[in-house]
Amino acid sequence: MQTLRSYVGGQWRAGSGSPQVLLNPATEQPLAQATSEGIDLRAALEHARSKGGPALRALTFAERGALLKSIADALQAERDALLELGIANGGNTRSDAKFDVDGAIGTLLAYAEIGISLGGQGLLLDGEGIQLGRSARFHGQHIALPRHGVAVHVNAFNFPAWGFAEKAATALLAGMPVLSKPATSSAMVAHRAMEVIVGKKLLPEGALSLLVGAPRDLLTHLGPQDVLAFTGSGETGARIRALPNVIAHSVRVNVEADSLNAAVLGADVAPRSDMYELFLKDVVRDMTQKAGQKCTAIRRVIVPKELLEDTRNDLVELLGPIRVGDPADDEVRMGPLATASQRADAREGVKRLLDEGKIVFEKQDLPGKGFFLSPTLIEGGAKAVHEHEVFGPVATLLPYDGHPEKIVTRGNGGLVCSLYSEDQALIEKTVLGVAPYHGRIFLGHPKIELSPGPGTVLPQLVHGGPGRAGGGEELGGARGLAFYMQRVALEGSRPVIQKLIGQKP
Ligand code: NAP
Repeated sequence: MQTLRSYVGGQWRAGSGSPQVLLNPATEQPLAQATSEGIDLRAALEHARSKGGPALRALTFAERGALLKSIADALQAERDALLELGIANGGNTRSDAKFDVDGAIGTLLAYAEIGISLGGQGLLLDGEGIQLGRSARFHGQHIALPRHGVAVHVNAFNFPAWGFAEKAATALLAGMPVLSKPATSSAMVAHRAMEVIVGKKLLPEGALSLLVGAPRDLLTHLGPQDVLAFTGSGETGARIRALPNVIAHSVRVNVEADSLNAAVLGADVAPRSDMYELFLKDVVRDMTQKAGQKCTAIRRVIVPKELLEDTRNDLVELLGPIRVGDPADDEVRMGPLATASQRADAREGVKRLLDEGKIVFEKQDLPGKGFFLSPTLIEGGAKAVHEHEVFGPVATLLPYDGHPEKIVTRGNGGLVCSLYSEDQALIEKTVLGVAPYHGRIFLGHPKIELSPGPGTVLPQLVHGGPGRAGGGEELGGARGLAFYMQRVALEGSRPVIQKLIGQKP
């Protein structure tokens, strides 16, 4: 069995003590083991701060962008092996694994291009210069510079490649060294990606570290110049925010947590129309892609009460033929959940939803081994459906009468809300009503070719959301850099400031 090692302090290190075993969730076969016991995490962070930070800050944005491009190219060359690991260790179908790995490569390339567009400068200008007094001499200018600490990234199990790459791309381009901690159960993909990056010496020493295994005391060593970007459950996010050193040193924290994403069908949409078919396709894709283990997946399917029966019948018909099984088989459309405990949580969650709703679709013929859960469509619900995320292939149909935004906003903050309508008045009212509760709103339209649906996070747009979604924000093109940089207001004589920022007085 392979032993996964951590790459910290410029070296590969295997931990000591009893390891966690990583399984193939479709067959329950052990694949690898990992432990972080015995690794000096305080020293790992200090190495990143003292070696990686200065090396990255000595480069311009364009040079850091070129580093990201070289990582993207190296991962592209390793794509087949990464896909195989996603299938074996993540329970991904090939298409699910591509979604993760190609998403990682695409995001690295997008940030490489942002680096090129920001050019040969080392600091970012934030807005225009401002005349502060009666005379033009008294001048102000906001700038942003990379923080002098380390960016710690703690990732969820469901996107081992994309989660690793999207956070690392933004931080490295901003000029901060990264220590990335993938979720242990699915760490094989991130571990292989790191082997490639280290093997080809693509980054300066200390710029990127990988911790495989439990986080142990890692976060207790974070200080005032460090930042922490966390993706995972709201519960762990809350625990992290409350760490005494995080509070005492005002460590900057970004939390990406769960979300009860809603898809709303407009009352103007006719059954069988292109808009209606698009809506059904997006719901089914989100329920089954990655076995519903996407933070952005549609959980609440909100339809006009007149269309409840049509949508129920049509979704049931579409879910019926979806083959669930070992994703190593090319005919399989949906794999298992990632771990036994994720399935136990999801089953528990379904029970909670069934206190108020009823099952209208589930499959009986699941494989005997592996952590499989059927695609499950529930109908009805009043409370739990707006409060509890079931992280699996589970969605609930909810009828509305009148204004859908009242139901949507009961989710208390989400990553994405999608809307399928051509009624401009309904679109405006719904968008304005739900916007303050979301990080992104997806307006489905059948004329958009190759629409990826609401579940795909694009590097150009922000990802995150208020309230239950963790209150965080990532990506969004160059906006994403702000988290890793300190904004400073310069106030003084205009020629002095202009010289400082490289402008001609
Ligand atoms: P989790 O149990 O909170 O774990 C997430 C990460 O935190 C893992 O790397 C885990 O490490 C680590 N961790 C656990 N306890 C920790 C602690 N006390 N201190 C520091 N790190 C700790 O979440 P999960 O079950 O893996 O992920 C599922 C959840 O993530 C779902 O609710 C989903 O909605 C959410 N999610 C959100 C987004 C988003 O972008 N908003 C994306 C994906 C997933 P170990 O694996 O070693 O335990």
